[in-house]
Amino acid sequence: MKLPFSIDLKDKVCVVTGGAGVLCGAMVDALAACGAKVAILSLGQESCDRKAQEVIANGGQAIGIDANVLDKESLKRAHEIVLKEFGPCDILINGAGGNHPKGTTTNEYLFEEDLNNDELTTFFDLDQKGVEFVFNLNYLGTLLPSQEFAKDMINRKGCSIINISSMNAFTPLTKIPAYSGAKAAVSNFTQWLAVHMSKVGIRVNAIAPGFFVTAQNEKLLFNEDGTPTARTAKILNSTPMDRFGEADELLGTLLYLVSEEASGFVNGVVIPVDGAFSAYSGV
Ligand code: NAD
Repeated sequence: MKLPFSIDLKDKVCVVTGGAGVLCGAMVDALAACGAKVAILSLGQESCDRKAQEVIANGGQAIGIDANVLDKESLKRAHEIVLKEFGPCDILINGAGGNHPKGTTTNEYLFEEDLNNDELTTFFDLDQKGVEFVFNLNYLGTLLPSQEFAKDMINRKGCSIINISSMNAFTPLTKIPAYSGAKAAVSNFTQWLAVHMSKVGIRVNAIAPGFFVTAQNEKLLFNEDGTPTARTAKILNSTPMDRFGEADELLGTLLYLVSEEASGFVNGVVIPVDGAFSAYSGV
């Protein structure tokens, strides 16, 4: 793969949750290309193995571990495998996350007549379990792996945690109150953990991606015939650079945050990579 620049991660152990997915899969490739031993933790052994094989085929070191970021026992098991195969964790990327249709309203605004329309999910119809799923996956799914793997990092040089937040953490996006609130919590937790871990030498930062086309959001962004949805038009109108991001465009920020030499005094920040979406007021 073509990196924007390289950093020396020779024999550093990186754990990437959601590493079998689109955005964090690109991060796995970049970390491995810089010499790291990468543990890919996602749901489903098959997708983890597939990603690990891809890295190995490109000359890197990786293992795939089926792990659930919401299950402490599963994380403990994954940690034992990482320790046995690679050693203590130096870098944790908390990438597992996402939204759920049951935490999503049909429309952007509520009108009184909507209350009698059974075909719509209004604010009043949001499902408690759906909202809990999204909060748990994004917030607890960041906190629990940090609890499990940060213990390895205490007072060892060059260790850090990178969380994955989102645009909706700065300003909530319409329709997705659960995902917006949960990512705001991820940004807030990034600051909290950076302060809390500052005396034991663990930096904690986050990347807030703008809009990238991935498996998770493809149906929201494109109709079945491949034409863009109305939401896509709104997103692009609100992105001054007039386009979606490419997964590879997250890698420069990732490597900068991981590198002690480059960002050793950067701690508790959330960096947008968004084509100026978060800077644009719409006017
Ligand atoms: P993706 O759907 O391609 O990948 C998600 C990965 O997370 C999958 O490998 C899945 O197995 C794993 N996962 C889901 N639940 C899990 C669980 N309970 N335990 C362990 N692994 C689990 O996602 P993506 O679009 O690449 O997103 C990666 C991160 O970036 C997410 O946190 C997402 O919220 C965030 N993000 C994405 C965008 C975007 O435009 N795609 C924008 C902003 C933020």
